[in-house]
Amino acid sequence: MRAVYAAPGACVQKLERGQIKRTFASGPLLGYYVACPNCRYPGTYLHDDVHFIEGPMVETTAEYKGTVITFRAPATLSAEESWRCWGCGKRFALRELEIEALP
Ligand SMILES: [Zn+2]
Repeated sequence: MRAVYAAPGACVQKLERGQIKRTFASGPLLGYYVACPNCRYPGTYLHDDVHFIEGPMVETTAEYKGTVITFRAPATLSAEESWRCWGCGKRFALRELEIEALP
């Protein structure tokens, strides 16, 4: 499933399946919220655990409260480690913005 960036102000509890939200504190990447492609559970996956690999930052858009807003997000995104969804327990990998379910 293709990962889709949610607007920076989006409520993580309202993310749709496959939506992701970048989390950072005045600079360095902390991690991403990923709404599970299977169960929609919005898990937090820390950069220290999953080791995200971000491509160059580019402008992208998302709808937020009925308006299309523009913000910056990585052109590509992968993760060195897979993760297990906190909701349904399935394991996922992220490669070039594609979220793949692992057996
Ligand atoms: Zn899940």
